[in-house]
Amino acid sequence: MGYSEIELAEYVVKHYAGLLTLTQKKALKHHQHLLKLADNPDRERVTLMYTRNKWLSEEPETFTQLDGGYSNFIVNCSKELLSNQGADVVINTCPQCGRLARTPLAKQCRHCFFDWH
Ligand SMILES: [Zn+2]
Repeated sequence: MGYSEIELAEYVVKHYAGLLTLTQKKALKHHQHLLKLADNPDRERVTLMYTRNKWLSEEPETFTQLDGGYSNFIVNCSKELLSNQGADVVINTCPQCGRLARTPLAKQCRHCFFDWH
C-alpha cells in the first residue's frame, strides 16, 4: 500500500463526509469550528454564535468522538466507513507509484505527476 492510514483517513473524511454517521458529522463540524476560533480576536462572541448555530456541539457524544485527538477520530471514521460502506468509496491510487490521488476523480498524481487521462 502506497499510503498511510492517516492519509487514507484524510482522503475518506474529505471526500465522503456525506457518508459519515450523524454523530461523526457533528464531531467533524465541531473540530473545524474550534480550529477557526483559535485565531479569532472576537472569540467569546463568535463562540456563542457557533454554539447557537450548532456548529459547536454541546453533546457529550461529540466530545467522546474527539477524546483521542483528531487524527485518531478520522482514522476511526475512515475504518468504520470503509467496513460498512466500502462499496461506495473509490480509493483512487496512482497506477504508477500507488499513492493516493488528491480526489476520487483525479487522473494525475500529485506525488510522481504521472498522468492517466
Ligand atoms: Zn504517482
